[in-house]
Amino acid sequence: MMTVNVNRHFFKKYFNMLLIAVALIFASSAAVVLADQNKIEVKASIVNVRTGPGLAYDVLDKVKSGTQLDIMGEKNGWYQVRLNMDKIGWVASWLVDNTEIGLNTSHQVAKLNTSNVPIYQQADANSTVLGTGSVNASVTVLYTTNGWTQIKYNQSVGWVRSTQLNVSSASTTQAQSAASTSDSGQTVTMLTTNQDDTKLRSTPNANGTIVTVLSNDTPLTYIKTSGQWYQAKTSTGQTGYVANWVVTKRDVNTAPIVKPTSLSKATIVLDPGHGGSDSGAVSASGKFEKTYTLKVVEMVAAKLREAGANVVLTRSTDTTVDLAKRPKIANSINADAFVSFHFDSTQTNNDASGITTYYYNTKKDSALAKTMSQNLSRLPLPNKGTMYGNFQVLRDNDRPAILMELGYINTAKDFKAISSEQYQEAVAEAVYKGLNQYFQ
Ligand SMILES: [Zn+2]
Repeated sequence: MMTVNVNRHFFKKYFNMLLIAVALIFASSAAVVLADQNKIEVKASIVNVRTGPGLAYDVLDKVKSGTQLDIMGEKNGWYQVRLNMDKIGWVASWLVDNTEIGLNTSHQVAKLNTSNVPIYQQADANSTVLGTGSVNASVTVLYTTNGWTQIKYNQSVGWVRSTQLNVSSASTTQAQSAASTSDSGQTVTMLTTNQDDTKLRSTPNANGTIVTVLSNDTPLTYIKTSGQWYQAKTSTGQTGYVANWVVTKRDVNTAPIVKPTSLSKATIVLDPGHGGSDSGAVSASGKFEKTYTLKVVEMVAAKLREAGANVVLTRSTDTTVDLAKRPKIANSINADAFVSFHFDSTQTNNDASGITTYYYNTKKDSALAKTMSQNLSRLPLPNKGTMYGNFQVLRDNDRPAILMELGYINTAKDFKAISSEQYQEAVAEAVYKGLNQYFQ
């Protein structure tokens, strides 16, 4: 039970299981895609609807035979669907039709490339280890995200680090084509200049004629890589080469931002600042910022979920999560809002007090920042309003995003509030109301 497909008995059992599953799909077809392609109809007695596009996500609801669901989107072989009461969830496409998509995504096979590969319950090295896999053991790949791969494990699923897997060449092609289909029209690779006087040249070297000179923070559309240079296009259509050390390359989510008209239709990412080895700011009495950000986020999440929103947390335990990974979560699920929770601090204790709401992109973020800040003004600490903030979780975010500093943790008066359940509850209520007002 602690290894993957290593003995024949297990493999045979697994294979039989697969045959039964395939037979069931072909016999009854769990659901069919209707002619207009925007709806699916459930034919099996029951199909699970999950909170995200993968088997590791919680079951949000179950739908019965005959139910018709609106398809809103598709990602990695999963359909995003709208349920009654306007809840939004995901169903596996291989359970709702029997076309190529389903077969491709459910049959990618990879081999573990080291011995004793830990298989985790979640895409997180701090989560429970379900078992280990031995070198060259075959696994079925279900879903890949942020350096983690979800695999079939025993009768359920588990996660391994993607670096510990070799996907065979045949299935790599499938994986790539699947990815490009689901991502088409969703992401574009952009470059941003890191300094003033950045030269765009006619050839990929320092001797090339200068096409134009760009100022810091200028966006360019990436075309291709040529040695240490990128070919790129400016917003005015000029094409040339720029050195890779003076720009930052990033995939940008270009999915249109269409604001849902109620909380129950919204997907919201809540980001409890810091965590794990990163404690954040520290109070005069030695208490950590990371503890209070998570507490408040748990309260906000409960309120939003009760209102039917699809809520995703960047962390739900005291674990270290890379700053880069946090906005990626919002981008990858086309979140309707990303809200980051922090508590401020100053060099010297008792130097400042109050709440600030930060945004990065005026066009994309400031409506959310403004609405939120208005709602935070009901809190007992002074409200300093909204402000531009160049934070990575906002800067790398393609979705509407804000970061709140909800009081100064090393100011006695503010900390008294921050550490009280009454204030935490009041913050949660204000954030809930702010989001509720924003999605109207
Ligand atoms: Zn912080």
